[in-house]
Amino acid sequence: MVKVMTKSPVILSIHAHPDDEASKGAAIVAKYKAESGARAILITATGGEEGEILNPAMDTEEVRENLAAIRLEELATSVKIIGYDRAELLGYRDSGMPESEANHNPACFARVPLDVAALRVAAIIREERPDVLLTYPERQSRYPHPDHLRVYDVSMRAREMASNPALEIEGLSPHLIPKVYFHIFTVERIVALHEKFLQLGLESPFSPDWFESVVPDYVATTKIDITGYHAVRSRSLRAHATQIDPASRNWFGLTDTQSEQAYRSEDLFLAIAPSGYVFDGVETDLFAGLRVG
Ligand SMILES: [Zn+2]
Repeated sequence: MVKVMTKSPVILSIHAHPDDEASKGAAIVAKYKAESGARAILITATGGEEGEILNPAMDTEEVRENLAAIRLEELATSVKIIGYDRAELLGYRDSGMPESEANHNPACFARVPLDVAALRVAAIIREERPDVLLTYPERQSRYPHPDHLRVYDVSMRAREMASNPALEIEGLSPHLIPKVYFHIFTVERIVALHEKFLQLGLESPFSPDWFESVVPDYVATTKIDITGYHAVRSRSLRAHATQIDPASRNWFGLTDTQSEQAYRSEDLFLAIAPSGYVFDGVETDLFAGLRVG
């Protein structure tokens, strides 16, 4: 049975740090805001306090001393650029890179008891009643940051809690998010971008280890055409001036137009779908199976 949507579709994105909302899903959210009148909610788990300053122009003592506050300002700018309707901070501490000292801080996101963090997300799920959840996969070989892995755990547990009729949460009625997607980077995309650099006579930032650390093409169940929205991604990335070097060839070596020519979609893995929902080949619409027409 296909569910007929009678309200604006709602997208919930859960991210680990300020800047993750720019590097993953920004163009998709902007597209659905513009073309489908979607409502978009962002949850950011940590303040990104452990982030290194990756832009030499911003690496000053003043910035280092105020990094937490600056990262929140950067996030607010990025949220406006992408067009999120609501942005919530869980306010946990950044857990730091794997094996770092910050991993041991009891206030860090990775060490907060799962149900404590998940219950807070579940309350937002019940309030907003999303149709689609965009989150992270449980295995992340290229960037296994403890906070990114925890986003998966908390997202899945929060979805379960929000849908449990036996669980009372602030008087809100249960809600089951019908579709869950994981952000992914495919070999196909990296190869296409790499070849575009070579075609233009530019040095490619993608070394052989890139090709081995991203996922095979068949993992992409869903390809959302982001033509016309790549610039949103670039602008939101630039808003994170302490984290993103404007001279980075990886992020900005190709213009928005060249990037779109090389690879038109942002790719996802459909992890959970409504029962009975089937599609042929590759899905191209986040809300497919949730509405008629
Ligand atoms: Zn992150």
